[in-house]
Amino acid sequence: MIFNQVVLAPADPILGLTDAFKADPRADKVNLGVGIYKDESGQTPILKSVKLAEQKLLETETSKSYLGIDGVIAYNQAVQGLLFGTDHAVMSEKRAVTAQAPGGTGSLRMAAEFVVRNTASRTVWVSNLTWANHNNIFQSAGLTVKQYGYYDAASHDIDFDAMLTSLEQANSGDLLLLHGCCHNPTGIDLNICQWEVIAQLCVDKGLIPLFDFAYQGFGAGVEEDAQGLRLVASKVPELLVANSFSKNFGLYNERIGAVTLVAEDEETAKRAFSQIKSTIRSSYSNPPAHGALIVATILGDAELRKLWEEELTQMRERIAEMRVLFVKTLSEQGVEQDFSFISAQNGMFSFSGLNKDQVARLKEEFGVYIVGSGRISVAGMTRANMDTICRAIAQV
Ligand code: PLP
Repeated sequence: MIFNQVVLAPADPILGLTDAFKADPRADKVNLGVGIYKDESGQTPILKSVKLAEQKLLETETSKSYLGIDGVIAYNQAVQGLLFGTDHAVMSEKRAVTAQAPGGTGSLRMAAEFVVRNTASRTVWVSNLTWANHNNIFQSAGLTVKQYGYYDAASHDIDFDAMLTSLEQANSGDLLLLHGCCHNPTGIDLNICQWEVIAQLCVDKGLIPLFDFAYQGFGAGVEEDAQGLRLVASKVPELLVANSFSKNFGLYNERIGAVTLVAEDEETAKRAFSQIKSTIRSSYSNPPAHGALIVATILGDAELRKLWEEELTQMRERIAEMRVLFVKTLSEQGVEQDFSFISAQNGMFSFSGLNKDQVARLKEEFGVYIVGSGRISVAGMTRANMDTICRAIAQV
């Protein structure tokens, strides 16, 4: 027997919480753990633009034959348009190549596998704090994960000096993981001056930026949120992007994202792309079609694109409203601690500063589920559950 030697894996800190939430019989339970958008009625709806694109596909799709290793070509071009805009030098110089991949996770994994298989780079720097799965993904691909300073708990803001100090230790060829926008878990992003400094640092030290871009459109807008990426791409010769449409198209279970590589010239980009394809071929052969066809259909049709942007704006604005209401309701419930920093953060998440014991009490005594680190998914708050959440926080 060999399987009896296998030890039990620890539950995933985020998805494990969802399992516990589902098993909780309390009617007024609230899940603020996983990063899933909920509308005002607490549902995660299919976007209208997505439904319309699906109807169109149902009528026009003629085959379920395999896609190429790199997926839907029109989709990959549309991804580049969203990432860089149409007039970026990276586009006119044809220095970017894109392969469709399964979600942001699959895209990050393919980027990391590509680097390990084809370069001497073995180290990736991630922010302290970061999305919990980054460590798993990079270590599974064979990278060593190091941390750079990022979050200052006292000021609830970025500690940019600490970031720069840590990165003094980084070596040429190291990967530098950067959250394109809506930093997970803190909700605090670099400003444009800080992006400039980071771009220059990458040039000076020969670091390879790896953008994790999972929330485009959830910060300030589709174009605005790409500013950091576009600025860095205009300065550095090489970079990688792993983007996801799970959140901004609500296509969570379609597993749709992409890995994009930018090289110093078109020829190098094409050569590197052959290795990305080879990595994909030995991982899952070729991607599923449905999510990519939906995104390509929406982005390729002016009316559907407009509708999608309106729906994305609604999601973004609802979360921003919940941030303000959360801070206000906490204060009405008698919480004296200042939580006003929460309204200044971007995206789905806020880093609340609640400690492990408080998080445990919220779950056990009040059925309010948040991640052990104190990260709260603001996207799970509604006018209806706000009092329950804030009363529970006031109690702990
Ligand atoms: N990157 C970050 C920062 C995330 O928060 C997430 C999802 O929560 C992902 C990547 C993964 O996205 P996907 O579900 O598309 O794999």
